[in-house]
Amino acid sequence: MKVPLKELPGHWSFNLDVDYVDSLVAELPMRAALGSDAGEAGSGTAELDFYKEGEMVFARGELSASVELACSRCLERLDYKFSESLTLTYLPEGQVPSEEEDEEGDEDQSSEVEDTYAYEGEEINLEPMLRERLLLAIPYAPLCKDDCLGLCTACGANLNDSECGCDRKVIDPRLAALKNIKV
Ligand SMILES: [Zn+2]
Ligand SMILES: [Zn+2]
Repeated sequence: MKVPLKELPGHWSFNLDVDYVDSLVAELPMRAALGSDAGEAGSGTAELDFYKEGEMVFARGELSASVELACSRCLERLDYKFSESLTLTYLPEGQVPSEEEDEEGDEDQSSEVEDTYAYEGEEINLEPMLRERLLLAIPYAPLCKDDCLGLCTACGANLNDSECGCDRKVIDPRLAALKNIKV
């Protein structure tokens, strides 16, 4: 995932293969929750147009991916798809503004600084940026559907499939205390 400076301007497309996506998401709780039947992690693509102005390199394009995760309520597998546009600036290492400097600057610039990355030598390594963007795009608690009913807290049945009939009334601890008072 490297772009040689001497070949700019140009268009690059990268395939994020299953092994790469797997290495990124393996540690995520909602990936680990799939357990032994996790299957393939997913895949993605990045399409970017690059151009150069002096030492600054600009890139614009799109990152899309689909990742297999567990629903955070019912733990069923879901295919999380997303696509986001990228507008990036690459500066030689050592010239990227640090976060402290950013805080002193005016607020309008903060989002641009976020999209600024460093390159080293004669090529741009896109991997750190892609890793960061992918991980930011994946929700911490994905849902198979907005109104997922989740699992029964008593028997563990998937309530989206059927109502198991368990008594799941949670007794308010304050009421429970009242119950024990002998009248
Ligand atoms: Zn669900
Ligand atoms: Zn139940």
